[in-house]
Amino acid sequence: MNNFTTVFIGLGSNLSDPAEQINSALNELAQLTSSQALQCAPWYSSKAIGPGDQPDYINTVVKLETTLAPEELLDELQSIEKRHGRQRNIRWGARTLDLDILLFGEDSISTHRLEIPHPEMSWRGFVLKPLFDLAPALVLPKGRSVKDYLTACDTSDLRLLKDIFIEQ
Ligand code: AMP
Repeated sequence: MNNFTTVFIGLGSNLSDPAEQINSALNELAQLTSSQALQCAPWYSSKAIGPGDQPDYINTVVKLETTLAPEELLDELQSIEKRHGRQRNIRWGARTLDLDILLFGEDSISTHRLEIPHPEMSWRGFVLKPLFDLAPALVLPKGRSVKDYLTACDTSDLRLLKDIFIEQ
């Protein structure tokens, strides 16, 4: 029997037609090997938090079921980022596509390649809001709910772009 794990992936883009980047990343994620039942949260735009004068971001969150191991999933996500011309130069610099594993089932993981839950997810409104939209009752491995984190977070610069759920 296949052992599927529910994972949440954060998507972000602020370069080279971000809406198109997110759209095509969604199509690629829907075709991801050993994975199924993709659901996508509404999309939001927000001001960039990184250095310099960067364009606004589009962010959303995807939920899917996978039998991939965490590092296999990371390999797949990094291949998608690469196909989108992602350059890894400046920390928090502008990017065509950023894919982060937010949660991998109820696992807490700390390796040289992976930190799960994603270390920055608990204070980023552009992650917490779409995550909450998708899974309002979700509780993180440390026992605190996404709703709790979201309540404590400033989401004033978030703008709803697409109020639809995509299921594939
Ligand atoms: P970023 O610049 O945000 O795309 O960070 C990429 C780096 O973060 C990669 O070298 C990954 O190995 C590492 N990383 C650590 N934890 C995670 C995670 N939960 N999801 C994605 N990348 C991660």
